[in-house]
Amino acid sequence: MKVLKFGGTSVGTPEAVLQVKLDAPAVVVVSALGGVTDCLITLSAKAVDPTADYLPMLDELHARHDQMVRSVLPPDRREESLQGVSNCFDELSRILQGVRLIGELTPKTADAIVAYGERLSSSIVAALLNARHIDSRNLIRTHSEVGKHRVDFETTHAAIAAANLSSSPLTVMGGFIASDVESGRTTNLGRGGSDYTAAILAAALGADVLEIWTDVDGFMTADPRVIPTAFTIDELSYDEATELCNFGAKVVYPPTIFPVCVRNIPILVRNTFNPTGRHTIIRQDAAPGERLIRGISSINQTALVTVSGMSMVGVVGVNRRIFSCLSDAGVSVFMVAQSTSETSTSLAVTPSQAEQACAILDREFAKEIESGAMNPAQCNNDLATVAIVGQNLRFHTGTVGRLFSVLGRNGIGVNAIALGALELSVSLVIPQTQLR
Ligand code: ADP
Ligand code: ASP
Ligand code: MG
Repeated sequence: MKVLKFGGTSVGTPEAVLQVKLDAPAVVVVSALGGVTDCLITLSAKAVDPTADYLPMLDELHARHDQMVRSVLPPDRREESLQGVSNCFDELSRILQGVRLIGELTPKTADAIVAYGERLSSSIVAALLNARHIDSRNLIRTHSEVGKHRVDFETTHAAIAAANLSSSPLTVMGGFIASDVESGRTTNLGRGGSDYTAAILAAALGADVLEIWTDVDGFMTADPRVIPTAFTIDELSYDEATELCNFGAKVVYPPTIFPVCVRNIPILVRNTFNPTGRHTIIRQDAAPGERLIRGISSINQTALVTVSGMSMVGVVGVNRRIFSCLSDAGVSVFMVAQSTSETSTSLAVTPSQAEQACAILDREFAKEIESGAMNPAQCNNDLATVAIVGQNLRFHTGTVGRLFSVLGRNGIGVNAIALGALELSVSLVIPQTQLR
């Protein structure tokens, strides 16, 4: 059994999907057509703004899906599919009308609206491939955790088992969308989440392989849109891939790796538009290769929150308190750098959570700040994070020195650096203006 996931650009020209060999039994997971998720988010924002006219955009979106059905489906499957598309747009139009009338867009309504992208694309691709179509919301179940949707693995695995997917030669499902385990309302796995849907299915089904079909020749040494000379990495270990994805390589959504890694299922990353071209295999025993560095990734928006104080050394459990107060509030920290003297700890967070992080830390350490043992949290915005990843880093001494000298020669200052104990990656926070 194979699980294959096709991203938005691949589904945008569904004929491309037909170029890919689909040996039965297989499960195909599809994203919304390219750009449709963004469009649905804009539609929601327009619907709640009484001065905006959202109808032309809605009509355009409907026309795009109709056009897709007309251009790719054989005549005998068109009518039913056009009717399905039309029913979806009737529903969507009524939801948007409701948003306009009430003048409020709740997170629940926003989730319902954004789900139409995958609901539509999956029904069209299922008709195209003449496959069984399953509404993923019946299989991928989530619960709420600090305001975020988290996969409820127990119910999800039970629902996947009950669906008996291996009994059909070909099943098509939408990625990204899910439903709340208690209320049944529509939820999702976060932007880019179709990869994760496919990984959850692959793990639950014990698939032989998870294939991620996208618009580039596999996982590359850097984002080819940023570094045009980037080239395909033939093999990556799960750990290396996780590091690169966590630090911004959006070709694979970060939570995707874990479910398949624990089942030792390889991930292939391939180009729908160049199916016989170079590609990447992500697996446990990936050969380390000759090169020192496997890849570089970056997050171009980073805020550095620093907790400091001369007497911090004497304050018990500072790190535990920092992390528990932030995680209770759902603030995610993607890099930590601590000075050896223990007088400061810097945390890299997304700029949208920086202010909240400082307020929470100041509240947590109010007593210490008042007594002068610690300073109020400081925030430095307008930064970027660069990660250099490779399992060979641990076998070479002096890499960090070389990094500093090359950055220094090029006039790039480093605000913080973190080197994991596994020596798999070095991450650096630098001014955003110096990222490119
Ligand atoms: P899909 O719609 O197929 O899910 P995404 O846009 O989510 O596609 O991911 C593919 C994009 O990821 C590529 O077009 C590329 O610009 C970007 N990308 C970022 N880092 C990398 C990398 N290291 N290797 C390949 N692509 C990368
Ligand atoms: N369509 C969703 C998004 O654009 C999920 C995905 O493409 O993976 O974020
Ligand atoms: Mg993606």
